[in-house]
Amino acid sequence: MKKAMAVTLIILCFLLGACSRANNDLQEAGQTPQQSAGLPFLGEQAVQPEYVVDPYQPYTYEMMTRDAARLEDMYDDYIDVSSIGNSVEGRDITLIKMGIGEKKLLLVGSHHAREYISSSYLMNMIDKYMYAFATGAMFDGYDIESLLNKVTVYVVPMLNPDGVNLVINGKDSVSDVEAVSNMVMLQETYAEWKANINGVDLNRQYPCYWEIKASSTFVPSSEMYKGEDSATEPEVVAMMRLCQNNDFLLAASFHAKGEIIYWADSGTAGLIDDAQMIAQDLSLSTGYDIMPPSEDPAVYGAGFENWFRLAFEKPGFCIELTPSDGTSLPHDDAEFDSLVWEKANDIGVILMQDALLIE
Ligand SMILES: [Zn+2]
Repeated sequence: MKKAMAVTLIILCFLLGACSRANNDLQEAGQTPQQSAGLPFLGEQAVQPEYVVDPYQPYTYEMMTRDAARLEDMYDDYIDVSSIGNSVEGRDITLIKMGIGEKKLLLVGSHHAREYISSSYLMNMIDKYMYAFATGAMFDGYDIESLLNKVTVYVVPMLNPDGVNLVINGKDSVSDVEAVSNMVMLQETYAEWKANINGVDLNRQYPCYWEIKASSTFVPSSEMYKGEDSATEPEVVAMMRLCQNNDFLLAASFHAKGEIIYWADSGTAGLIDDAQMIAQDLSLSTGYDIMPPSEDPAVYGAGFENWFRLAFEKPGFCIELTPSDGTSLPHDDAEFDSLVWEKANDIGVILMQDALLIE
């Protein structure tokens, strides 16, 4: 009897010791055992969720790649970071996949360099949605966990990293200063640059009525030049390949200054179910105006969303975030919340939810 009690005591002591060691491991990792219990990401190796994106400053390529890596570290099960190709200057064009669901949708920012607020917007969206999920909270009433188990959101936050670099860091920061110096300036400053670093406007490059797309410049320029042919630029080729290799249910391309939603072209408007319904949902949430179907291919041709609609007959949106302010300069990023986030914070969840309705 005494021997049996002694053995039991020894076993109990061993178990208590193991428990306290496990607690110590969690405390060393910066967590308490209670905190880890209800949080989906917090195994022994995980780090405490925290916000990583600071959108209240000019949002550089380096900030974006650093934040993408931190998000992947923090939310490894639900975030995957890779590259879809290289820009003209050789930067990796980052792709962030958020979610584990079978259905896919695509969001892309910064076709246009000076509109880099669309990049900080998309990164802030991933940051805020994932934080809500990881802390067991709803995001503005939406259940992010449930959505991300059904869909995977492919986000290309900054398609034109070389152009964004020029806008934020100036002409001396580019690889070929002389080449850029020789390009036509259609605005006064490099902070107003819109094209890629070859002087080609990436949203006038896609093979969708490219031949008849009207233009006001026929040489490499700060904006508007559609290139010598469609799909000559590596950023556009990478986007096309991404779309061709994935069965996206919908795509949305984000620009700045307009607070409007383009959802249809005359040629494909009748072919694509659901696009109008989704545009209405987006408009209701954001207050942005819905534009009528674009009628003239000479005007709407060669844009990403126009090509996406034509090539796949799936909903493709061009969403112009932020109010027009009568200038071509980037906004004051310190005003990020009132410029964009307060109105547009739910666009991602609405697109996820509506994508589930598309067959
Ligand atoms: Zn734009």
